[in-house]
Amino acid sequence: MRPFLIVGQGLAGTTLAFHLLKNGASIEIINNPELPSSSKVAGGMFNPVTGKHLAKTWLVDTLYPYLHSFYSEIEDLTNDRFLYSVPIYRPFKNDQQKNQFTKAIEKHDLKDYCEVVEEQTTLSKGIDNPLGGILTKHSGRLDVKNFLKASEVHFSKLGILKEGQFEPDQIIHNTSSVAYKDKEYEKIIFCEGAMAQHNKYFNWLPFNPVKGETIDFKMELDIDRIINQGKWFMPLGNGQYKAGSTYVWHELDQIVTEKGKEIITEGLQQFLKTPIQITGQEAGVRPATKDRRPFSGPHPEFRNLYIFNGLGTKGVSLAPFLAKNLAEHLILGKEIDQETTIARHYALY
Ligand SMILES: Cc1cc2nc3c(=O)[nH]c(=O)nc-3n(C[C@H](O)[C@H](O)[C@H](O)COP(=O)(O)OP(=O)(O)OC[C@H]3O[C@@H](n4cnc5c(N)ncnc54)[C@H](O)[C@@H]3O)c2cc1C
Repeated sequence: MRPFLIVGQGLAGTTLAFHLLKNGASIEIINNPELPSSSKVAGGMFNPVTGKHLAKTWLVDTLYPYLHSFYSEIEDLTNDRFLYSVPIYRPFKNDQQKNQFTKAIEKHDLKDYCEVVEEQTTLSKGIDNPLGGILTKHSGRLDVKNFLKASEVHFSKLGILKEGQFEPDQIIHNTSSVAYKDKEYEKIIFCEGAMAQHNKYFNWLPFNPVKGETIDFKMELDIDRIINQGKWFMPLGNGQYKAGSTYVWHELDQIVTEKGKEIITEGLQQFLKTPIQITGQEAGVRPATKDRRPFSGPHPEFRNLYIFNGLGTKGVSLAPFLAKNLAEHLILGKEIDQETTIARHYALY
C-alpha cells in the first residue's frame, strides 16, 4: 500500500495520524504552522453534560471512555503529560435552574455523569454558590498545545512530518491513487480546520465557522476544579487560569478584541468574587458545521481525496473516536459513521 498524506496537524490530523500508524499504514503529514489553528487556542475542556437544559453530549457513552484511553496511550508513547481529569462544578443561578437540573438528571439518566451537590463551602470565599450546583464526573482538560507539541516531536522523530503549505493545484488524479508533487499516495486526507473553506475540493460543504476568544489570568484564590456558569474558567497550575469563551459568526479572524475580553470578564463576575489579573488573550475560529455534525469521508467525485473536519466546539472529545473510525475505514474498509459521513451532503456538490 502507498502512503497516506495528511494535510494539517491540529487535533483532527494528529489523532488520525496516530490511528493510521496503529493500523500499520505508512503516512506523511504536511502542516503549515504559519496558518491559524483552532487547536492551538482551544481551552481543551471535555464535558459530558452540557447545554441550557443539561443533556448528555452526542455519543457520550462511546466518546468518553475512548478519549481517556486514547490520550493516556499517547502520553505513554510520547512520555509526556497532557490529559487531566478535572471535575466541573456548575453553580445554580437560581432556584428555577436548580429544580430544572435536578429533574433533568432523573429524566435523562445522567447519574453516571453528574450529581446535585450542596453549597461548596470551600469555594464560597471566591465563588458565589449559595444554592449548590451540579458536579460533573469524567470531565477534564486536555493541554492541547502540549499534546500537539509532543505529537509533533514524535512524528518528526519518525521522519513523517513536513512543514509547509499544501497546494491543491499540484494534485494529479489517478484511478487507484493520487499524486502530489510527483509522489503517489493511497489517499490525501484534508484536516485543515476552518481553512478548508478555501480548499476548492471541499468548499461546497456546509461549514458554519465560529470565532472564539479566551483569556488567561492569575488570582490569589486556589481552585482545583473547572467552574462553569455560561462562562467558565479552568486551573492550568501555578496559579494560572484560562477562561472563555465567546461565539461570533462574523469577523472570522484570529484577532483578539476588547469586546471579547469584556464579555468573558463580565461573565466571570456573575459568580467569581475575587479580582483577577489578565495575563493573556487568544482567538481562533472553530471549524463548526451547519448541522453540528463532523465531516468525514471521500470526495463525491475524486475518491482518493478525503476530509476529516467539522469538529466544532468539541474537538478534544470527538477527534479520537472519529479518527479511529476513519482510519479503520481507510485500512480495513469499515463503514464511516452514518452521522459524520459527508455522503449526507453529496447533493450539494
Ligand atoms: C476559543 C476556542 C476555544 C475552544 N475550546 C475548546 C474546548 O475547550 N474543548 C474542545 O473540545 N474544543 C474547543 N475548541 C474547538 C477546537 O479547537 C476544535 O474543535 C479543534 O481544534 C479543530 O481541530 P482541527 O484539527 O480540525 O483544526 P485546526 O486546529 O485549525 O488545525 C488545522 C491545521 O491544518 C493546518 N493547515 C490548514 N490548511 C493547510 C494547508 N493547506 N497546508 C498545510 N497545513 C494546513 C493548519 O496550520 C492547522 O495546523 C475551541 C476553539 C476555540 C477557537
